[in-house]
Amino acid sequence: MDEEAGVSLKFVVVGAGLAGLAAAYTLARAGHHVLVLEHFEEHIRSLGCVGASPSMTRILIQWGLKENIERLFQSCDKCQFFDATTGSSLGALSLHLMAEIKSEGSAGFMIAPHYDLVDMFLELGTRAGVQYRFGVDATGLDPQTDNVLLSTGEVISADVIIAGDGSHSVFRQYVEEDRFSDDEDLASLIPPKFAHVMAPISIEDIRKDKDLDTLCELNSWDYWLGDGYICHCSFSNHGKNGLIAIVVPYEGEAKPEHAEWTFCTDYKAYGVDLSKLEQRLRKLFQTANFFYGKIYENRPLETIHAISQKVILVGEAAHSILPGSYHYPALAFEDAQTLGSLFSKIQKKDQISKFLASYEEIRQPRLKFVYESEMAYRIRLTSPDETIRRHRNELLRRLSEYNMNSSSADEEVLMEGWGTDFEIMSYDTNEQVTDWWRKYGISIVGTSQDACGEKELKIGVATQVAAQFVDSD
Ligand SMILES: Cc1cc2nc3c(=O)[nH]c(=O)nc-3n(C[C@H](O)[C@H](O)[C@H](O)COP(=O)(O)OP(=O)(O)OC[C@H]3O[C@@H](n4cnc5c(N)ncnc54)[C@H](O)[C@@H]3O)c2cc1C
Repeated sequence: MDEEAGVSLKFVVVGAGLAGLAAAYTLARAGHHVLVLEHFEEHIRSLGCVGASPSMTRILIQWGLKENIERLFQSCDKCQFFDATTGSSLGALSLHLMAEIKSEGSAGFMIAPHYDLVDMFLELGTRAGVQYRFGVDATGLDPQTDNVLLSTGEVISADVIIAGDGSHSVFRQYVEEDRFSDDEDLASLIPPKFAHVMAPISIEDIRKDKDLDTLCELNSWDYWLGDGYICHCSFSNHGKNGLIAIVVPYEGEAKPEHAEWTFCTDYKAYGVDLSKLEQRLRKLFQTANFFYGKIYENRPLETIHAISQKVILVGEAAHSILPGSYHYPALAFEDAQTLGSLFSKIQKKDQISKFLASYEEIRQPRLKFVYESEMAYRIRLTSPDETIRRHRNELLRRLSEYNMNSSSADEEVLMEGWGTDFEIMSYDTNEQVTDWWRKYGISIVGTSQDACGEKELKIGVATQVAAQFVDSD
């Protein structure tokens, strides 16, 4: 049986992106009233693909969505690396090393169509009782009541506000923005702003061109590495949707319209110079009729819990990791699962602030670890420094060799190439929250029975409704 909270709270979730939708779903399943406020008139329909890394597919399986994964996602078996200016191959890494992670309850690394995921969670949320209001803009907190203030002046009351309003969240102003990374040398090497430009591409167009035909494989996530920039290409929906993207440092002024994905036809507006790219990569961008771009500011947060005690940040509102990383969506699902499972244990309203503090305590070390590892990884992949670049090429070459013969793998090389990525992907949110609750739950709810009863902490609160969803497909 699903575990439900002892008290039903009113949650207002701002933003119907993946983070907001997943959080809304698990909170509704934990027995809470949930209202989602979304700025767009209707839900977002993007043509992009989402990298569903193992920590994310593990959560979806725990929520009973295995069949949906099999139907909508496609498995990604390798990563190919190319030099962005010469086009030469730097290596192809098989993800067969994923077998161990798969054996621990995840579906491995997969690629999902962004809009199918959004559709799926809207539908699941509706079935779980989530209510939605589209076309409303939250501007922050009402100064009198600390509730959600809309641009129309309307105030929406809430026991808890979940800010899932993306990288330019209007709720970031309420949390302490401060130094986040202890590794300042590393942080100083990362530019303060990035442009992320994505262009939908069609597999038919690619197949028509003999230069490109052999380049893009459906089950591969491909990277082109340049000096300070990175391009990636992937397909989902078994080739129906494809995406080519570039992430470059951005030196211009970040305008308000840059805060969300904006359709555009001029790459230069985002500081992207296609002429420096190898010919095939240029062609790939040119097969797209339009693209959409967004400016990211690299502003990690010291805390993700607002001083008002009522606001918590999830998804990109909370994580300032680097655009183009395939860990973004997984972190959003981990946030949701942590929230849903914690708030399925709440007994009384006056425990809210302790539960929010617990959320922060569980999530922040994880976010910090992923952020720092992503910074190091990005520097290693895109540094113009000749020594770093030579070392990178040699590492990719040796890792590629192990594809052929993994029994000859050098542990040190494997750890350098995959070590932190494997740690990130092996993360089991359920296990983390359960362990945390066993240790500290009693200090929050007061009685040992409530904190450490016979029942496991139920991360799978969503399982029942998910099963209904699958049955009715
Ligand atoms: C249109 C779109 C397309 C995307 N395509 C891809 C893709 O192809 N591949 C990929 O890996 N990732 C993609 N992403 C990003 C991906 O969704 C995120 O990386 C991750 O899933 C976590 O997102 P999020 O929910 O935290 O933020 P977002 O996905 O940015 O969602 C934030 C939501 O909050 C809404 N919002 C913002 N401000 C307000 C406000 N003031 N009031 C009310 N609502 C507000 C936004 O309209 C948006 O719907 C896309 C995001 C968007 C918005």
